[in-house]
Amino acid sequence: MTRLNEFPNSQRRAIEVVKEVAAEKECRPFLVGGPVRDLLLGRNAFDIDLTLEEGSSTLARALAKRLDGRVRSFPQFLTYKVTASEFPEIDIATARKERYRAPGSLPAVAPGRLKDDLMRRDFSINAIAMDLQDESLHDPADGARDLKKRLIRVLHEKSFIDDPTRIFRAIRLASRLGFSIQQETAALLRQAVTSGALLTASKERLWRELFLAMEEEEAPAILSALNHYHVLEALFGVKIGRRITSGLELIRTELTVRPDLDRYVLYTGALLRGSGASVSQLEGSGFSQKRARAAMQIAHDLPRLQKALAAAPSDRQRFRLYKSVAPEMLALLMADKPAEGEHVIRFEEFRKFKLALRGNELEVPAGPHVARALERTREAVFSGEIAPDQARSFAREMAIKYLGRE
Ligand code: ATP
Ligand code: MG
Repeated sequence: MTRLNEFPNSQRRAIEVVKEVAAEKECRPFLVGGPVRDLLLGRNAFDIDLTLEEGSSTLARALAKRLDGRVRSFPQFLTYKVTASEFPEIDIATARKERYRAPGSLPAVAPGRLKDDLMRRDFSINAIAMDLQDESLHDPADGARDLKKRLIRVLHEKSFIDDPTRIFRAIRLASRLGFSIQQETAALLRQAVTSGALLTASKERLWRELFLAMEEEEAPAILSALNHYHVLEALFGVKIGRRITSGLELIRTELTVRPDLDRYVLYTGALLRGSGASVSQLEGSGFSQKRARAAMQIAHDLPRLQKALAAAPSDRQRFRLYKSVAPEMLALLMADKPAEGEHVIRFEEFRKFKLALRGNELEVPAGPHVARALERTREAVFSGEIAPDQARSFAREMAIKYLGRE
């Protein structure tokens, strides 16, 4: 193996086994799409995507048997997935032709030749196949030339109309690889957006593409480029500020220190800042109510919250405000105003602070006033308003006071 040697270890072992099994079963698998592109670029490739004109099910089953793994089949797409422990997932597909019956809908598929399978793909650089046995390339769309020229190019004029998710893919791939979108392709992309192509795909599919953009290392650049091409506007139905970029960078930085935060909520909130968007703009995102609320808080409430915090006279008041917001919003508050950081850190300590006092020690009737009194006491001890040994009598006093108000 030469080029294939550049796969990471476990992928290389898997490819060796595929070659052995293919030779035994007399079938001819091709490596296709992303991994070929990445190998030719000298980038790390991880996916193993194979296409065969014939015998894909034979290969999939024999391979699973050899690896002591299992096969899942997806008949509507003529594909198989082979999984085995300690091996990367292997996707095996029958070469196919596609036909788009209506723009934006999923295509009808039928078995085809390798060339058909390559020519149905999104961009020339993703339409190269490598014969696993001899590593020869099949490149009917001149993808290798575009790899050299560092260009993203569609294979025909109607590509973005047939499948508008390719609009997202073009922009994402260009940013990831540092490629340009070829001039004619960029013109077709613009025309597709202007003609409303994005409205023909379901919101769910478009959100999935947006989330993929947010997962990329270069997410801020990709999201800005999507905005530049008016893609976000089409998805959200509201205008997105042209100067979103700096806010997105802030989020990328924040995510590197706080990988526990919800990146989708953060980026969505940042995109919608100042747009006047409401939860209805999140249709198709699959966000739970809680996540939608967090995104909207980030989009709308940051300045208001900052003002309220600036006016808050004590830790207690500040903590009340902090309690009302999602952790993502808290992180942004800190990132936006480093001085706020100290207070938030204190708040995080406060969150964890436990009071060694239980409701039944207060000797008052049970009820909601007990929990309130304990919480008020926790605040008072934490902030130094009272000494720890005063906690019990303070809590009892408060409980009686609250009880009187119920
Ligand atoms: P990644 O590194 O992100 O996995 P990839 O190119 O492998 O990049 P996939 O989404 O895994 O992207 O798709 C695998 C291949 O399937 C692509 O290389 C491309 O040839 C083809 N493909 C994917 N999506 C489309 C699409 N919407 N239209 C046409 N071809 C597509
Ligand atoms: Mg892939």
